Amino acid sequence: MPHYELTAHALHEKLKARDITAVELTESVYSRVAAVEPHVKGYLTLTRERALQQASAADAGFQKGDEMPSLAGIPIAIKDVICTKGVRTTCASKILSNFVPPYDATVMEKLHQQGIVMLGKTNMDEFAMGSSTENSAYQVTHNPWALETIPGGSSGGSAAVVAADAAVCSLGSDTGGSIRQPAALCGVVGMKPTYGRVSRYGLIAFASSLDQIGPFSKDVTDCALLLNAICGRDAMDSTSVDVPVPDFTKSLINDVKGLKIGVPKEYFAQGLEAEVSDTVHAAIAVLESLGASVEEISLPHTEYAIATYYIIAPAEASANLARYDGVRYGYRTENPSDLLTMYKKTRSEGFGQEVKRRIMLGTFALSAGYQDAYYKKAQKARTLIKSDFDAAFQEVDVIATPTSPTPAFKIGERTADPLQMYLSDVMTTPASHAGLPGISIPCGFVKRGLPVGLQLLAAPFAEERLLRVAYTFEQNTEHHRQKPNLRVEL
Ligand code: GLN
Repeated sequence: MPHYELTAHALHEKLKARDITAVELTESVYSRVAAVEPHVKGYLTLTRERALQQASAADAGFQKGDEMPSLAGIPIAIKDVICTKGVRTTCASKILSNFVPPYDATVMEKLHQQGIVMLGKTNMDEFAMGSSTENSAYQVTHNPWALETIPGGSSGGSAAVVAADAAVCSLGSDTGGSIRQPAALCGVVGMKPTYGRVSRYGLIAFASSLDQIGPFSKDVTDCALLLNAICGRDAMDSTSVDVPVPDFTKSLINDVKGLKIGVPKEYFAQGLEAEVSDTVHAAIAVLESLGASVEEISLPHTEYAIATYYIIAPAEASANLARYDGVRYGYRTENPSDLLTMYKKTRSEGFGQEVKRRIMLGTFALSAGYQDAYYKKAQKARTLIKSDFDAAFQEVDVIATPTSPTPAFKIGERTADPLQMYLSDVMTTPASHAGLPGISIPCGFVKRGLPVGLQLLAAPFAEERLLRVAYTFEQNTEHHRQKPNLRVEL
């Protein structure tokens, strides 16, 4: 197997044994990037020179025989919503086209302490608003499993490059599903940790009460390694929680005996593609055959999750995006006649259509006279959705659902109809409202060859339980080993 196809934990053994150097590994991954990028278009920026320096630094450590961290020398891609010191960070928006952050996000500091190799920054929906990565101001990313389809979103680039072996693993962000849904559609592992588990310092804000950074990987073990690296309280983010960070690799136990899995009936309703439903039911049956008990549960307020999300997220976005005014950084319109015109033109030229739609929706929902009818009501609905989960976790240990109602859809298929696009998130937004951890793992394919994701949810800070169930499933199935056939020449 070529090195670029391997997982971080397999590569760590090779680096330790000096079967391979980090520089060779980095070159191997960049050769893959060169071969697949013309088709996939997952990266906005490549940082090859820095990457090779980082790889040499890791090699120096391995050569000295130092005890090296598990991610040392591992080539990783970063969603372009995460601030990287000295490396352009655009959020896939024209308004940040020239933004080079003077600081690293906390997750980047943590990854650099591990000695990772950063390959580059990945494409996404502008400001993480979208479910297909088509809202990028720069390019459309293609799903490696079928190039005419979308990779999901908003972290579509981060998911696609891992699926195409153009990165060993990557980071994304999830506000209403942006890690889990693209992971499902690209056939990789993606986890949204509990809200507060990972510092948001240096994550460009979309909806601050929902945003969370998390990993994409080729298997569950790598997911645990990345979590080990990025989790923990950070004084720079007051919403990061001071709870102990376990060694997540200790949860990689191949055993689900006695575990109770709840299957919410509301997730198997209208809009779910029959083949996705069958595939997910078959996956749950595998867990049952391995000793878990499965019971149907009800999360009665599920149907309000999308409407609630599309009030709360735009409301927060409208406030967060007020800072892009052309004054301090980012894009500024040319030769404005006065200050007000400068603001107006900068924002109308700098933001794309979906971002403007969200700013308008959010401003409306927060405006005098409407705030109680929309924003306050949405907050109440959010509490009801959360109490559904609280009640369910009194009964079951883990909840299993499809991650997305359909596999990857065709590029352009949903762009004309925002509501249709919003419905892509029907299975991921409820857990976002409740701040729960969620993982999507590959669980099979529909007949036309597209991957299907199984979503597992647990109570706040119970990531370990998710990893255990996901690991058990992976150890007893082969879906995660499948690779898309990109038919490219190296
Ligand atoms: N697709 C959802 C949206 O458009 C979620 C995006 C996300 O999680 N960042 O808002």
